[in-house]
Amino acid sequence: MNLEKIETILKNEPDFRLKQARKAVFHDLITDWSEATTLPKNIREKLQKEAPLDIDAEIFSSKDGRTIKVRLVLEDGLAIETVLMKHTDRRNTVCVSSQVGCPLRCLFCVTGEMGFKRDLNASEIAEQVLFFARHLGKQNEKISNIVFMGMGEPFLNWENVKEAIKLINDDNCFGIGARKISVSTAGITEGIEKLADEFPQINLAISLHAPDDKLRGELMPVNKKYPLPKVFQAVDDYIEKTNRKVMFEYVMLKGVNDSEKQARELARLLKYPLYMINLIAYNPNGGFEPTPAEKIKKFKDILENAGIFTTQRYRFGTDIEAACGQLAGKDIRR
Ligand code: SAH
Repeated sequence: MNLEKIETILKNEPDFRLKQARKAVFHDLITDWSEATTLPKNIREKLQKEAPLDIDAEIFSSKDGRTIKVRLVLEDGLAIETVLMKHTDRRNTVCVSSQVGCPLRCLFCVTGEMGFKRDLNASEIAEQVLFFARHLGKQNEKISNIVFMGMGEPFLNWENVKEAIKLINDDNCFGIGARKISVSTAGITEGIEKLADEFPQINLAISLHAPDDKLRGELMPVNKKYPLPKVFQAVDDYIEKTNRKVMFEYVMLKGVNDSEKQARELARLLKYPLYMINLIAYNPNGGFEPTPAEKIKKFKDILENAGIFTTQRYRFGTDIEAACGQLAGKDIRR
């Protein structure tokens, strides 16, 4: 599928034709242009021939059926992955990729290991959402939340992510409320600023992973350019403008960032009413060991006793390599 072709084909038509076409694809979820009855027949036929709507995807389902990962093959043959998580409270969250690979090379993440291939365009981002909108639509269900927590760093591809967010948010397209959309960043401060200015209702998440610059710099090379004081300044400016809560993500690495001393340091760093922390169990992919559950609990207790709002991320889809830090777009059939 190539959504940009739709724009090219409708270029010489009045503006409302593109709106109708987008509504048919993203809102009515048509899979064949013959269903787009608001458009004249000759346009439908041209679109069907030149911009067909099928999505080339390979689907992997977790054993418990609550996680579905798709591998989408793009026009140039590169592949990306997108994950649907079906929560027990009926939320259906789609975790979207923003780049093929990632240039940041965080030590604990497989996407970083594959390096950076290219940015996704807005239509390739929207296609990931569309796949799951159709999938859930067949069961009379809907996507409730979107998180930009898949492959890539969304703020290094902001223009395309922004265009995709507009489609996701638009009532005539996917119609998902801004407060149900989250963007996660390793700390690109210019992006944090743009989010506050352009989409003040969208949630911000920061991949923190260490309470001090030394350790963070070892785990996340991006910390050299964006050290903690800079990141926190940007986060505080974001809060000043938006008055929204900010979530810090913290992957628990055994013997690396999970000591009681580090929990206390973290509590000092995060002592602010609008900060909250989400502890993530490390999904092993070589390199590190996961912190044992009892130790995560102890860490959480220290944070909570210090008055920090702390949550623990449910682990989805490790059996199909769909969990945080496991998306690589590679062929995992063995
Ligand atoms: N580049 C953005 C978006 C990716 S979000 C960012 O860094 O925020 C993916 C989240 O999963 C990030 O918080 C990332 O640090 C975390 N993650 C990466 N590898 C992981 C692993 N092996 N186990 C658990 N979480 C991991």
